Amino acid sequence: MDNKNIILENYYKEMGISEPVYQFCSRIEDSLKERFEEINQVAECNQMKVLKAMRDNRLSEACFSPTTGYGYNDIGRETLEKIYADVFGTEDALVRPQITCGTHALALALMSQLRPGDELLSPVGKPYDTLEEVIGIRTSNGSLAEYGISYRQVDLLEDGSFDWEGIEKALNDKTRMVTIQRSKGYASRPTLSVERIGQLISFIKERKPDVLCMVDNCYGEFVELSEPSQVGADLVVGSLIKNPGGGLAPIGGYLCGTRECIERAAYRLTSPGLGKEVGATLGLTSTLTQGLFLAPTVVKGALKGAIFAANIYEKLGYKVVPDGRESRHDIIQAVEFGDPDVMVAFCEGIQAAAPVDSFVRPEPWDMPGYDAKVIMAAGAFVSGSSIELSADGPMKEPYAVYFQGGLTWEHAKYGIMMSLQKIYETGKVNLVL
Ligand SMILES: *Cc1c(COP(=O)(O)O)cnc(C)c1O
Repeated sequence: MDNKNIILENYYKEMGISEPVYQFCSRIEDSLKERFEEINQVAECNQMKVLKAMRDNRLSEACFSPTTGYGYNDIGRETLEKIYADVFGTEDALVRPQITCGTHALALALMSQLRPGDELLSPVGKPYDTLEEVIGIRTSNGSLAEYGISYRQVDLLEDGSFDWEGIEKALNDKTRMVTIQRSKGYASRPTLSVERIGQLISFIKERKPDVLCMVDNCYGEFVELSEPSQVGADLVVGSLIKNPGGGLAPIGGYLCGTRECIERAAYRLTSPGLGKEVGATLGLTSTLTQGLFLAPTVVKGALKGAIFAANIYEKLGYKVVPDGRESRHDIIQAVEFGDPDVMVAFCEGIQAAAPVDSFVRPEPWDMPGYDAKVIMAAGAFVSGSSIELSADGPMKEPYAVYFQGGLTWEHAKYGIMMSLQKIYETGKVNLVL
């Protein structure tokens, strides 16, 4: 063993990793070399894509000057939006710190495009929890339903495929917009690849060319070589405290899409007539831009972490979604532990490995809106950031943890090793390869 390996092993030992856990994880890591090489290549392509957009749009130091008040003629904001449009292959983009989170970005996308009497269709089943109130599936103040916008949903078939017949039937004169969630989020269905999203959009547009197709792109950015906007989506939407913020963005959301869609969204975010012309950036532009620059690399680390964990926990006999070999279309990994103690131990490990709040012990708590206690592990530089290594799950059967992120592969790796260490200490796993 060379010197570097001894030093590394000593670090792990000093930081709580026992010999059996270290050996077990090392062997899993060794088996993933080819897989990781493919991920490196995707990241390299995406890095070039981002870099090219920055050069093509003549990003300059002057772009980083803060603006205040109305923020007229903010060249940094305008340049960043052009860069996003190029990266996502769209005519225009809206990238703003005034968009407070992913849900806000999605609500903005829906509410700006739809008018009373229109109908929204989800052809991929139930949307993300927080959108239920936006749409009015659960009654809420100011929902789309309150404005006379109806909603229809076609579930995926048992095997995860699209219900083509059902979708065809659901499209009608009122259908104005289709919402497609790329990531499985906290559902058990598979995440959609960009290719499958493209097939779905083509099918819908062949039958109703004037319908607007929006993709909830959360957790999917830079996982593949292309984005849903490059296979026909009129709008792609996401959060800057997930993938595209690269861990640096302290707030924000983005919408990329056609000129018309972005204009409607900008008129809704600020005001009719003002649109994109206002919105001071308060000095955040350099951070948002640098975050985008780092995003392909950060996503690369998070993906490796997800695959590393899938292979470790699959080897130990737990159900993992996606499994250890499947191709990836987002950065989320689910592991079903079927045992509350093991689930808690997992989260304790992720927390103990965090750079921030490593000394805190996560405990299940009654979170508003959930029917079971929820446990969360997160020790993040940006509050609530889920591109940083984080895990959570409801304390009920099948005791599944969803975890994602990791600003660097090295940290994701240590976090996962620590999760296994804590589980190992419960005596409930046997580490034989
Ligand atoms: C995170 C997420 C959202 C909502 O984003 P918030 O920033 O938590 O409001 C919506 N859809 C999907 C698929 C997500 O992963």
